[in-house]
Amino acid sequence: MLLNDLPARELAVALTGVVPEEVTRRLFARVHDRGAPPEVDLAAVRGLSKVATAALRKLGARAGRLEVIARHRSKVDGFVKYLFRLSDGQVVEAVAIPLPAGPDSVPEKYTLCISSQVGCALACAFCATGRLGFSRHLETWEIVDQVARIRDELDVPVRGLVFMGMGEPFLNYDAVLRAARIFCDPAGFAIGAKAITISTAGIVPAIRRYTSEGHKFRLAISLTSAIEEKRRRLMPIERKYPLDELLDAARAHSLATRDRIMLEYVAISGENVGAKDAAALIERLAGMRVRLNLIDVNDATGRFAPPTEAELAHFRDLLAPLGQPIVRRYSGGREVHGACGMLAGTSLPIVA
Ligand code: SF4
Repeated sequence: MLLNDLPARELAVALTGVVPEEVTRRLFARVHDRGAPPEVDLAAVRGLSKVATAALRKLGARAGRLEVIARHRSKVDGFVKYLFRLSDGQVVEAVAIPLPAGPDSVPEKYTLCISSQVGCALACAFCATGRLGFSRHLETWEIVDQVARIRDELDVPVRGLVFMGMGEPFLNYDAVLRAARIFCDPAGFAIGAKAITISTAGIVPAIRRYTSEGHKFRLAISLTSAIEEKRRRLMPIERKYPLDELLDAARAHSLATRDRIMLEYVAISGENVGAKDAAALIERLAGMRVRLNLIDVNDATGRFAPPTEAELAHFRDLLAPLGQPIVRRYSGGREVHGACGMLAGTSLPIVA
């Protein structure tokens, strides 16, 4: 039994009749302690009886662990890409983002970008993970342990998480939400729910489910074009869940949370940053409270190029009538292939 696979309440239910509920909470805290070994120190869990200890041993109770096989640190901005090997030999990646970022800055905290699947079925045209195809979902503990492995190596805290690594989080909904609950639990990783962002390419039924369940985590939706035909080309998920339905679900989420909906826009030179693109955004987002994040495309194949400064400035000017916050989001770690859209489970020469 893997003790880091369940949030505290579900762990208590799973151990009903084995460990009293109040002791389960202490066991949960011990499992997620900084530096905790996979063989949990049951003797250190206050109130755990000998009978319960023996029962847990019989269940094979331990924490699942990932193997860190490489770390690549960017000399430009200090981003660190981690590669993990899973027990079936597959590889996933996560990226540690220092804040503040920079070649010589001393980070005060980190945000981690983590993966939810091995590969991805959604095949966004600009994304290296999408070119891999889909292999499998990650288990909850495989998501949780990406954060634990990195946290244990850092000397400043992890204060934020983004589910923007490999995979579409809403196609692995239950495992992702379980992991998010472990992350925000004060006895788990104590990361504020508002500092955890789940990003979807637009799985409309899951967005609606997420809204109806009333989670406190932040939701981001990858839009990338407000022109259907163009979005279909860049993000094939548009064929299954068209823009109208997606924006309806986004609007409903914004109304339910009384908050702006975060829309990600992968900006591509000569592709989606022109006058027609801005006009479509203004028309389709009318009346919605949004925050539009512009992210330069990162395409190692060279098929798509990021917009020039002049192109992007012009696009932002064209979007002024939208009257909503527009933020250019820095996507670092490019030269270690750790930037948005570049995670492909590949290794570079290892930098310790
Ligand atoms: S951008 Fe996200 S949803 Fe699209 S292919 Fe890449 S990992 Fe999948």
